[in-house]
Amino acid sequence: QRKFFVGGNWKMNGDKAGIDAIISFMKGPLSPNTEVAVGCPQCYLMYTREHLPENIGVAAQNCYKVSKGAFTGEISPAMIKDLGCKWVILGHSERRNVFNESDQLISEKVGHALEAGLKVIACIGEKLEEREGNRTEEVVFAQMKALLPNISDWSRVVIAYEPVWAIGTGKTASPEQAQDVHAKLRQWLRDNVNAQVADSTRIIYGGSVTPANCQELAKTGDIDGFLVGGASLKPDFVQIINARD
Ligand code: 13P
Repeated sequence: QRKFFVGGNWKMNGDKAGIDAIISFMKGPLSPNTEVAVGCPQCYLMYTREHLPENIGVAAQNCYKVSKGAFTGEISPAMIKDLGCKWVILGHSERRNVFNESDQLISEKVGHALEAGLKVIACIGEKLEEREGNRTEEVVFAQMKALLPNISDWSRVVIAYEPVWAIGTGKTASPEQAQDVHAKLRQWLRDNVNAQVADSTRIIYGGSVTPANCQELAKTGDIDGFLVGGASLKPDFVQIINARD
């Protein structure tokens, strides 16, 4: 019922030549059972959208919470849509921790992006000290609670659980660790939204996903796909897209 979803997050990487290389390995073959989107730097959104096949979504990695105005350096969901891109990644841990984006701002951004007609990959996840302090549940539930009032249409939201300690570190959450949090998040949706949303919302995992670990993670009951950083820049990404096949 939940279509497997694999997103690539290029972060602040790549140039036109590098994007050309990614586009050529993205020819696949890609599993028809996986929905795929790539998050590329703002300045390459148009180039990427024009060169990737239509069946691969293109995501911005951030956007602001209003449609236009005096906000130097920002881009709006309307602009992303105008380029033919349908997705935006919001609340990534690098936005939260490097650029100090608050739960409140992220929630408002999610709300506006949905209102503007985009689909949203909303990221949450605990830091190492929070996990070690047994606060994982408390942290991710608080992040979900902050998003809740601004989510008008759950069918256009994918939740990405990305434990901060697993991002870019080579330390992947074990299938048991990730499944445990995903199951709790699904139960949270059941308790705080409704059963239909809990059953149908994709909850994907991010943090050092590679071809070597993706299949075990993909076998668990509540991991509905991945958000992939480093490996999305390499042909490895195709193996991750095809993890369930
Ligand atoms: P890595 O796959 O490089 O650990 O990055 C994960 C991530 O932050 C995806 O958004």
